[in-house]
Amino acid sequence: MIESPLLEKLTGYIGGRWTDNEHGNTFDVYNPATGKVIAQVASMSEEEVNAAIASGKSALRLTSPYSIETRRKWLEDIRDALKANKEEVGRILCMEHGKPLHEAQGEVDYAAGFFDYCSKHIQALDAHTIPEKPKDCTWTVHYRPIGVAGLITPWNFPIGMIAKKLSAALAAGCPSVIKPASETPLTMIALFSLMDKHTDMPDGMVNLVMGKASVIGKALCESPDVPMLSFTGSTEVGRKLIVDTAEQVKKLALELGGNAPFIVFDDADLDAAADNLIANKFRGGGQTCVCANRIFVHEKVADAFGEKLAERVNKMTVGDGINGDVDIGPLINQAGYDKVKRHVQDALEKGATLVAGKKPEELGNDLFFPPTVVHGVNRDMCCYQEETFGPLVPMALFRTEEEVIEAGNDTEFGLASYVFTNDAERAQRVAAGLRFGHCGWNTGTGPTPEAPFGGMKASGIGREGGLEGLFEFVEAQTVPRGF
Ligand code: NAP
Repeated sequence: MIESPLLEKLTGYIGGRWTDNEHGNTFDVYNPATGKVIAQVASMSEEEVNAAIASGKSALRLTSPYSIETRRKWLEDIRDALKANKEEVGRILCMEHGKPLHEAQGEVDYAAGFFDYCSKHIQALDAHTIPEKPKDCTWTVHYRPIGVAGLITPWNFPIGMIAKKLSAALAAGCPSVIKPASETPLTMIALFSLMDKHTDMPDGMVNLVMGKASVIGKALCESPDVPMLSFTGSTEVGRKLIVDTAEQVKKLALELGGNAPFIVFDDADLDAAADNLIANKFRGGGQTCVCANRIFVHEKVADAFGEKLAERVNKMTVGDGINGDVDIGPLINQAGYDKVKRHVQDALEKGATLVAGKKPEELGNDLFFPPTVVHGVNRDMCCYQEETFGPLVPMALFRTEEEVIEAGNDTEFGLASYVFTNDAERAQRVAAGLRFGHCGWNTGTGPTPEAPFGGMKASGIGREGGLEGLFEFVEAQTVPRGF
């Protein structure tokens, strides 16, 4: 079992205190590197979720809102607590997620960056009066907190994803009811321990509920006291939330799945492209929404690029992230592992060739999937159509710019994309043609607190990060004054 000063309680947090878990229902949390149970966490009832919503409602202040200075202090305190406890939060994250320790601790820094950004830009949410005086009135625009927000997060960035939502919700003055993924609730409990000890937020401002997604999701969708849900996860669940909240016309912020094209033109710096692809693709074991899922390489450089990739991939180490300097940890669970295996098998059966990695029949019985490169991929293959969410690099050939833009867009998703070329005009044309919310030019880097990030098409609605993200949890109210 995991021991940590940040995990003294393994229950929910409602109205400023840890819950008692009176029903005694729990669920197991596993370390995917060892397969062992490391904690048993409270599984909460519908009544408890409703109590969390009621507590959030009691913390909402409309007529005498929390001042900008007060909200800024909450954000700064959370930022400072995360930075001061980066090692321990990262260790907990590493043990329940499996990603290498240095990545897990880096994710804590990344999370702190969102609280930092919102604290420094919160003034943008102050009311302003517009310069024009239409209709003989003075018009003031106020940014009101939308109300109690349900924040639902996935397991792949257990601290990064909540940081994006919670920083903007607190900046807006919105209380929240937070549900972490059932694979990774411990990092969230650690965050609540820090907020409990190091911040002076009113009771009910932040509430933690854990357990069955169906129970918690239903309560959040049905409650008229939750006007907004901010969800990061699969497009499948995102669609369900759209349907389940339609009746009440709730505001939805949705960060959903991806199927990122990574395009390498024949004039690109192939070493830089290969280095960027490795960093992009294998972060979190390939279990990120922004990781390259289809690699399009110009036919003239395909062999050379494939060799550079294989050379790098063959040097990568796979193992338990807690033990030091491994490049890739285990996949999150058996279903995730089986999906990657199915994608490799399907590609090989349909004519792709294995450039690096193991054939499916050579794989072991744990959750450690070797980094794998396959060449000769086409649109009939599962790895082209679906988000693999694992350490598989599927390479396809292209000849022309028009052809590769069309191929890149040949997916319902529109989250991240990448183009490698030294021709600036071509880069601008390709970025404009790709219907993706993020398009890296000669970089495989993903989101940052300072810039808006989010999906087009079935990858979502709304933006997190940047000023756009700061405005997600407020509603503009205009007050024209007549005399
Ligand atoms: P998921 O299965 O959709 O789960 C995400 C969260 O939703 C979890 O907390 C889950 O709870 C909860 N959930 C499941 N069913 C629900 C329901 N009916 N009502 C309310 N909540 C429900 O996704 P995942 O497998 O954890 O995450 C991987 C996916 O997230 C990938 O598709 C990835 O691309 C996407 N993602 C997108 C972004 C982005 O920025 N666009 C970032 C990261 C990940 P349980 O864990 O209890 O089931």
